[in-house]
Amino acid sequence: MTQHEAVDVVVIGGGQAGLAAGYHLRRAGLDFVVLDAGTAPGGAWRQTWDSLHLFSPAAYSSLPGRPMPPQPGETYPDAAHVVAYLTAYEQRYDLPVHRPVRVTGVHRDGERLRVETDSGTWRARAVVSATGTWSRPFVPAVPGRTEYQGTQLHTVEYRRPSDFAGRKVIVVGGGNSGAQIAADLAYGSDLTWTTLREPRYLADDIDGRALFDHATARRRALDEGRTDTGGVASLGDIVAVPPVRAARDAGLLKPQPMFARLTETGVERPDGTTAEADAIIWCTGFRPALSHLAPLGLRGPRGHVPTTNTQAVGEPRLHLLGYGDWTGPASATLIGVGRPARDAARAIAELLG
Ligand SMILES: Cc1cc2nc3c(=O)[nH]c(=O)nc-3n(C[C@H](O)[C@H](O)[C@H](O)COP(=O)(O)OP(=O)(O)OC[C@H]3O[C@@H](n4cnc5c(N)ncnc54)[C@H](O)[C@@H]3O)c2cc1C
Repeated sequence: MTQHEAVDVVVIGGGQAGLAAGYHLRRAGLDFVVLDAGTAPGGAWRQTWDSLHLFSPAAYSSLPGRPMPPQPGETYPDAAHVVAYLTAYEQRYDLPVHRPVRVTGVHRDGERLRVETDSGTWRARAVVSATGTWSRPFVPAVPGRTEYQGTQLHTVEYRRPSDFAGRKVIVVGGGNSGAQIAADLAYGSDLTWTTLREPRYLADDIDGRALFDHATARRRALDEGRTDTGGVASLGDIVAVPPVRAARDAGLLKPQPMFARLTETGVERPDGTTAEADAIIWCTGFRPALSHLAPLGLRGPRGHVPTTNTQAVGEPRLHLLGYGDWTGPASATLIGVGRPARDAARAIAELLG
């Protein structure tokens, strides 16, 4: 296997978090590479369903240094626009992204960390892991899942409503993905939307801007040692983006309580009644993609690696970026990842002297 030249920093993952890390590592004067398993720029935005739009306007969706241009005719840009923006960002800053390169393991190797991949080995003095969550879809262990003979898919596999035209579809999940996919299917399919609890919509006039403002206020409170105002989840679960609002206001999004089990042909409710379904779409979330860090033995509760801000508690040469609020408020958003990326680059520059 190829042994690549040693670098100061290896960034694992070339989605928005990896690019923001690259931007700040460059500014910090460090020598780095970004290793990305994808075949082209854009991270998870290349793999979403066709109708997905951001929940914030372009001006609230920018990475450090370069504002996202508005998308003509759209207040909320679509995923293709985000991919184009990330592609241009990577080129503009000439970020050294290698693709497709999948990292299989990060190991301690004396003074350095050894990053093993399907295209050889890199040695680095520090590592930023920014692999996101999209490659680790989560489906809950509901009884009967293996008995059910219909189609089951997760958010990551859903593409467009025409694939389910006229079919009986159950969408499971009361978050943004569940609400948006249910709204997508509400017009052409026989839809049942199933949620664990009554869906909690944010007020109609609130979009991602307010979520970001909330995260900023939280960051400030934490920085100043004041009481934690809580994550954005305290505001609600579902941003009422225009298609969700339209389907809800047309009476097409009527949530049903979660079923008790799957049968061969559908579901059984807690009261024993049954319903048929051709397909079940699990919009039940994601877990952080961290298996490449297993050799470091850092795994903590809920599958996370314990961190102080972005720095791994058990390995100061490792930073984690993106993933969720546990690596910094709003760290898993386009506009929110800039600040933790800057802090991580500064901490690495300091560590490496
Ligand atoms: C449905 C949905 C809607 C969202 N809407 C918004 C929104 O409107 N606004 C907003 O700001 N945020 C939104 N987000 C949140 C967030 O911005 C995205 O999830 C974003 O893709 C996260 O970026 P990332 O760089 O952390 O991860 P990703 O985009 O997933 O990028 C990770 C990269 O790492 C690579 N990778 C993974 N494992 C390895 C490995 N072992 N070796 C090498 N490379 C690897 C992947 O191929 C990928 O290219 C949304 C998320 C979802 C799921």
